Amino acid sequence: MMESAKRVAEKKDWVKGATGDWEIVLGLEVHAQVLAKSKLFSGASAEFGAEPNDHVSLVDAAMPGMLPVINEYCVEQAVRTGLGLKARINKHSVFDRKNYFYPDLPQGYQISQYKQPVVGEGSVHVDVDGRSVEVGIERLHLEQDAGKSLHDQHPSMSFVDLNRSGCALMEIVSKPDLRSADEAKAYVTKLRQIMRYLGTCDGNMEEGSLRADVNVSVRRPGAEFGTRCEIKNVNSIRFMGQAIDYEARRQIGIIEDGGSIDQETRLFDARKGETRSMRSKEEAHDYRYFPDPDLLPLELEDAWIEAIAMGLPELPDAKIARFIRDYGLSTYDAAVLVAERASADFFEQVARGRDGKMAANWVINELFGRLNKEGKTIDSSPLSAAQLGEIVELIGSGVISGKIAKDVFEIVWTEGGSPKDIVERRGLKQLTDMGAIAKAVDDIIAANPDKVEQVKTKPTMLGWFVGQAMKATGGKANPQTVSDMLKEKLGIN
Ligand code: ADP
Ligand code: MG
Repeated sequence: MMESAKRVAEKKDWVKGATGDWEIVLGLEVHAQVLAKSKLFSGASAEFGAEPNDHVSLVDAAMPGMLPVINEYCVEQAVRTGLGLKARINKHSVFDRKNYFYPDLPQGYQISQYKQPVVGEGSVHVDVDGRSVEVGIERLHLEQDAGKSLHDQHPSMSFVDLNRSGCALMEIVSKPDLRSADEAKAYVTKLRQIMRYLGTCDGNMEEGSLRADVNVSVRRPGAEFGTRCEIKNVNSIRFMGQAIDYEARRQIGIIEDGGSIDQETRLFDARKGETRSMRSKEEAHDYRYFPDPDLLPLELEDAWIEAIAMGLPELPDAKIARFIRDYGLSTYDAAVLVAERASADFFEQVARGRDGKMAANWVINELFGRLNKEGKTIDSSPLSAAQLGEIVELIGSGVISGKIAKDVFEIVWTEGGSPKDIVERRGLKQLTDMGAIAKAVDDIIAANPDKVEQVKTKPTMLGWFVGQAMKATGGKANPQTVSDMLKEKLGIN
């Protein structure tokens, strides 16, 4: 396979060996379970978490004579994902049988797509440490998931749970374009984010909705690709990073000791933090692929693909660019807000028609901070976007100070209610009576002649005066007004 981008990794990504620098080369095969009610070729439920073998139709159990029927919605989800990856959609694609034996595979073959997948080449953009990396997508194909063997339920028996058997998976194959564990982690995070925006996969790695096979090889910077090993079924982003670093080290050690790498399939043992050999690499011909005679080729119509394209939501990259442009946000803040569609939508409701930067500040610092502390998500936020928007508006129009706004935030968080009403009823409005502010300022100056002397040579003392005046006005004066007034009266600038 060719790498799509002619990119030699920057030196800082190289790994130091005993005999010089090495470059890691990675290509990922990500399996994403299609978010759909039923399975790829049967009407059984695809929901996670049922009792073993509760969601198994005769098709999933491979009873003789049962025929698969394609689930149109799953195809639509694959096409939607392909469009989200800016990939070519193949109007003609074919389902093949991939033959192998395993107790959790009652058919004796997996229905997959081999030579003619539904989605062809595309690309995903990732940012790693401020560097922008374009990762080529080789293909996306649809296939069935297998069941699950359970070995630890009984000392001398194994069980098979077919709930997952027949669930639709999208296998997304990247080009060997990734050059470090960090890039691979950023890539999977981005894929997950895009699919969650599209609603095509829930991205839940703990439940196995998203898992990655990681192909790892090493080479001298700029040299030809080395022999790769494939690490199977890595099911968390953190483990993926550990598996890659361990595996690269292992390969470098072998080559530097004069050995060579055997192409093989390996497993990552999360407890030991190491990979170990599972089997030597199987070749495509070992599977005796052939077109499934029970299924017709998939023929997609332009108008159908077009309609899906028209219905795509705004995706993360476009949203980040728009947030920067329309709300004046920093790239960092925009990326934080856009990480999840729900938080981006929440922010927009808070910011619309108001000060965008202030809105971002309140969502990221106050709201996210508070949600994190209480282990809550944005969907279960006690404070609605409308309520937070009102608070931002009250600050923006000078009705309350930022300090009082934090108190209002607290009240709404615990008691609910309308921020405007709370400010009104509790008399929290910012003091706009200049006479009252001036009186408070004069009193402080009169009571502290020593400090008045000091501030003339030490202007940072001004903060102390502002603090005292704020206290005297119950936090309701505008700190900027107080500061301006103090400067004038104290004769500093
Ligand atoms: P196979 O069909 O044997 O699994 P593919 O050519 O489809 O092999 O590649 C599978 C994955 O391995 C792809 O993600 C690809 O980017 C990656 N890959 C291919 N060659 C290398 C290599 N030398 N080092 C690391 N990854 C590689
Ligand atoms: Mg493969």
